[in-house]
Amino acid sequence: MGFMSDRERKEKSIEEIRSDVLACKRCPLYQTRNLPVIGQGSLDAKIMFCGEAPGYWEDQKGLPFSGAAGRVLDELLHSAGIKREEVYISNLLKCRPPQNRDPRPEEISACFPYLERQIEIIKPKVISPLGRYSMKYILEKYGFKDQIESISKIHGRVFQSHNLFENIIIIPLYHPAVVTYNANMRETLIADFKVLASLV
Ligand code: URA
Ligand code: SF4
Repeated sequence: MGFMSDRERKEKSIEEIRSDVLACKRCPLYQTRNLPVIGQGSLDAKIMFCGEAPGYWEDQKGLPFSGAAGRVLDELLHSAGIKREEVYISNLLKCRPPQNRDPRPEEISACFPYLERQIEIIKPKVISPLGRYSMKYILEKYGFKDQIESISKIHGRVFQSHNLFENIIIIPLYHPAVVTYNANMRETLIADFKVLASLV
């Protein structure tokens, strides 16, 4: 086999994650899910979103943000002039929790390495955790544990992580689903998405 392009290498690595997730039994959620949701979007994305977990439609289709929250996300991306195809969208958990219950800490710990591998492959400039669970685990990963506050305080705040190997920006945002039960949150999210767009 000849040389692989950067793009082919990334695609191959993502396919390895897909097959590992399809065989995964690291937590009990594999027993009740329909399809796992790995992620979707450009492997050269500058912005990577991390939602919480698949819901009903994501579990049916195997694609992230393909239900009501996805329609809100599409609208927010549009408002900020960001194309969905140019970002990468993933989740903290790859399998749907039954009845969309909250993710459990042991499930998140079991699944987090897959997200870390995705970040490693895509090497985004900005990671935007959507919702409080993703916010917590991603801020902890990048050494901001002591700056974690409620999402109502730190949504839209820019956290810059510098070390020898990488510069990465974390901007936690409210989960788009909040708009479906509190319409007032739309303006807050639109404003935060403008901040996000200004970073790339
Ligand atoms: N909510 C999430 O957190 N992720 C999805 O993919 C869909 C809804
Ligand atoms: Fe494995 Fe994650 Fe699915 Fe749990 S949620 S079975 S850790 S892929």
